[in-house]
Amino acid sequence: MAQFGLIGLAVMGENLALNIERQGFSVAVYNRTAEKTDSFISQRADGKDIVATYSPKELVAALERPRKILLMIKSGAPVDAVIEQLKPLLEEDDIIIDGGNSYYEDTARRSRELQATKVNFIGMGVSGGEIGALLGPSMMPGGNKDAYEVVKPILTKVAAQVEDSPCVTYLGPGCAGHYVKMVHNGIEYGIMQLIAEAYDLLKTGLGFNHQQLHEVFSAWNTTQELNSYLMEITADIFQYIDPQTKNPLVEMILDAAEQKGTGNWTVISAMDLGVPVPTIMTAVNARIMSAYKEERVKASQVFDGVSGRYQGEGFVDKVRDALYCAIACAYAEGMALLKAASQERQYHLNLSEVARIWKGGCIIRAEILKPMQQIFQAQPDLVNLLLAPYFKEAILSRTAAWREVITVATQLNIPVPAMSASLAYFNSYRRDRLPQNLTQAQRDYFGSHTYHRIDQPGTFHTEWTQVDAESLQTGTAD
Ligand code: NDP
Repeated sequence: MAQFGLIGLAVMGENLALNIERQGFSVAVYNRTAEKTDSFISQRADGKDIVATYSPKELVAALERPRKILLMIKSGAPVDAVIEQLKPLLEEDDIIIDGGNSYYEDTARRSRELQATKVNFIGMGVSGGEIGALLGPSMMPGGNKDAYEVVKPILTKVAAQVEDSPCVTYLGPGCAGHYVKMVHNGIEYGIMQLIAEAYDLLKTGLGFNHQQLHEVFSAWNTTQELNSYLMEITADIFQYIDPQTKNPLVEMILDAAEQKGTGNWTVISAMDLGVPVPTIMTAVNARIMSAYKEERVKASQVFDGVSGRYQGEGFVDKVRDALYCAIACAYAEGMALLKAASQERQYHLNLSEVARIWKGGCIIRAEILKPMQQIFQAQPDLVNLLLAPYFKEAILSRTAAWREVITVATQLNIPVPAMSASLAYFNSYRRDRLPQNLTQAQRDYFGSHTYHRIDQPGTFHTEWTQVDAESLQTGTAD
């Protein structure tokens, strides 16, 4: 009998099956299309403790109890279909783990539906791409806590290992795991966009070639502030030469970014909860704008574009500092969103633990997560990371550079939407008085939406069009 079952043999499923087996657990696999199962078993799984099965029934029969079955299939309707196939076959205490990128509301619904049955359900975000799946991903499980305890010995071995622990922990009930994975992806969108802007500033603003870009990003990756997986792969990308054209491959790639929805979901959830996430939201917008390729090409013939090169000194270090501050904002936004969602939806998230399990295996793994883990450990109720003395100091010492980079970019017509949005986030957050008093006045003017005053309690409405002595101001004191 196999100790673990896995459904879905695309890139993620195959690699996770190999990872689980390498950690000493026997695996039974099933894939809807039998040819994929055959080629996996005869090639990559050859000689390993992995058995093929050709139907959900055969898979269930091949597993020891309580059965643990990980779904690594396309998210959405396929997950519901496979759960429906499994439900009548499973017995008391058996566990289904959905490891795909499922929408958290779907996971919440599946969790509720399966609670009424004998089957236990875990919704688990998995990050790290196919390499992470093979060598050790970051895993974000949520759902049935008792079921997690059963699979914990396996997951803790399969996960990426960092200096203090494996990158997996039980996050909370229901869809907590998939919610955390969604926000992870939202932060990922933000950081990727910020890195793209830094690349544009160095390439377009300074005229750097790809060897120089490789050197700058490699050097940044050795710093405590910016050391991260995304910085490392960016440095690598600049070195890759297209075998056909002999140009750097990155310059042969169409500048139209695609997306699978997790960035969108993050922004929608943030707006629903009333949490500002401008860096993340701008990153989603930037991908959408990039997809307007044809229209942009036409517009570029109507308007002048980039105007010249930057002639000053020390710009590379200033871009590095701006990048660091903006990345800190992307994390701060994501963590603030997790905090709000946790309160609203009773996930009981431990943000220090979230930072810990993101330190290895996942796409946003970075040195910057170490201070975050410590900060949230010491201050679990911290409302925003930017208020932690560590980040306060780190940001204030770089604010001048951050501002200057955005000024230079603006003068050169180089768009830096996410860097600008993050600076505006910081500048808004640190203002005790914002101009939304005017917004409130306008709302009251055209829609009688009322307003609050700074000098007395209550709700007020003004007849704004009668600005002379007959002006009426009405109010209800609390
Ligand atoms: P895909 O998302 O491309 O899904 C392909 C797999 O889903 C195949 O095994 C396919 O079976 C199966 N499938 C599709 N529809 C059905 C159905 N109706 N019934 C049964 N099986 C079905 O594979 P990936 O490996 O890329 O991703 C798996 C999951 O992990 C997804 O949710 C994805 O979002 C998530 N993920 C992916 C990452 C990545 O880097 N690729 C990273 C992190 C998470 P068949 O062979 O028969 O078509």
